[in-house]
Formats: sequence, C-alpha cells, structure tokens
Amino acid sequence: MNPIADYHMHTHLCGHATGEPSEYAQMAVKLGLEEIGFTDHAPFVHMVDPGVTMNIKQLPDYYRMIEDVRKEYIGSLRIKIAIEADFIPGYEDQTKAILDDYPYDYVIGSIHFIKDWGFDNPAEREQWDEKDVNQVYRDYYELLRQSAQSGMYDIMAHVDLVKKFGNRSTEDLTDEVKKTAQVFKECGVAVEINTSGLHKPAKEMYPALGNLKIYCETGIPLTFGSDAHDPNHVGRDFQGAVELAIAAGFSEYVLFKDRKIERSVKL
Ligand code: ZN
Ligand code: FE
Ligand code: FE
Ligand code: ZN
Repeated sequence: MNPIADYHMHTHLCGHATGEPSEYAQMAVKLGLEEIGFTDHAPFVHMVDPGVTMNIKQLPDYYRMIEDVRKEYIGSLRIKIAIEADFIPGYEDQTKAILDDYPYDYVIGSIHFIKDWGFDNPAEREQWDEKDVNQVYRDYYELLRQSAQSGMYDIMAHVDLVKKFGNRSTEDLTDEVKKTAQVFKECGVAVEINTSGLHKPAKEMYPALGNLKIYCETGIPLTFGSDAHDPNHVGRDFQGAVELAIAAGFSEYVLFKDRKIERSVKL
C-alpha cells in the first residue's frame, strides 16, 4: 500500500512553483492520500531571491493561506502547516526567529548551499567543474550534521541532494553517512524519502538505497515527500518510494504534529 501522507510540497510564494494550495490538496484527495504537509521555502536569511523563497513579509500570507485550505478540506484531507528552511551556518539566530513566528507542525531542514555556492541551482551548475567532487560530498555531509545539531529541524530533506546533477563521489563515503546517521539519531530528527530526484539528472530518489539502509539501521524515523512544485506532482512515484523504504528495512513511517512525532503508520 502507498503511504497516506505526502510531507513535502511548495506553493507559488517561493517564486518557482505553480498552482494554488487547494489544487495540491485536490490532487492528494484524488490519489487517496489522507494527509499532506505544505513545506514552502522559508525566507532566506543570508540574501533575498524572489525566485527561490518567499520574503519575510509573505510569511503571514503563507501561514494564513495554508490555514484556509486546511479548513476548506476538513473531513476529506488532513493538512499540516510546515516549512522548509535552509541551514546557513552563522545565521542560526535569524533562522530560529523566523521559525518561531508560527506554530508549525514540523520544520524540514535543507542544505542547498555550500558556503555561497548553490550547488543544486541550475544557474550555478557549471561551478561543479572547478570542484573536487569528493570534497563537495564531505562538506555536504558536514553541513547536514551541523544542521541537525542546530536543533531547528524535525525532518532532514533530500539527504543526498548533492548528487542531483549526477556528479558522483569516487571515494567510498559510507563512513560519512554513518556518522551523519548517528548525529541524526542523537538529535532526534527524521529523514524523508524525496521522490523528486528521479526526475533530475541523478535519476534516483533521495537518498539512495545504500544510504537509506544506514538511516534505517540507525533507527531514524522516516517520512515521504514528493517535493511537488506543481499540483500534478503530489504523491508522485510513491509506489516506488514504498518499495525503496521496504528494501532499506523500514516497516513504518511517521506523522508529525506540533513539532513532534504524532504517530507511526505501518508500511
Ligand atoms: Zn523549490
Ligand atoms: Fe530542498
Ligand atoms: Fe522542497
Ligand atoms: Zn526541498
């Protein structure tokens, strides 16, 4: 059976997603999902880019917009109000301040930047050519650990996003992943299976099976997310995501409410 919950989707406020929240909800109902969570990109704290995140003045609009659709769908779909926030070292106080403004059901933490480099941004893709790929991977995992340790997040997003454009490490980085999983365990964060990677040059969900096995063995809770930026992508590839979860050893996934695990659901 497919998961009943899609915990990662966006809204037009981030400047690079389409559709109204009600259209995402409609699609979820059509697919037979019981629960969704909106996780639009929280305002950047280190710069302003209207094509990537909402700005700080739009945060109240975001919360109200999702509250409205939540009310509209009472009885047919449970809607959680959440947010995806970048981890930018040195800006923890500003990030915390933004996340404390509203009572989210959960907060997804993301690494999209290594220093100033948006390594998954198509506009900055050519910078990969100048990099030591293995070092980029190590830097990425270090940032993942730091982000979990910041205590700001409940679920870590797409935990091998660094592979998005198909740049693959040539060294065995299993120890990096194990170290990261251990930190996740100590910090009490969950990971997601994010199906969007299948439609990127990496052609794989995030994270890859080998990595997901390590998170499972370490006892990290799991969620599912399509990372939809279009209503048609809600719940996309969830059948395959369940197969991946089971292959990695998971027998359940979790739902969140008020920044805590609400309950687990059998796969
Ligand atoms: Zn996005
Ligand atoms: Fe992301
Ligand atoms: Fe996202
Ligand atoms: Zn994301």
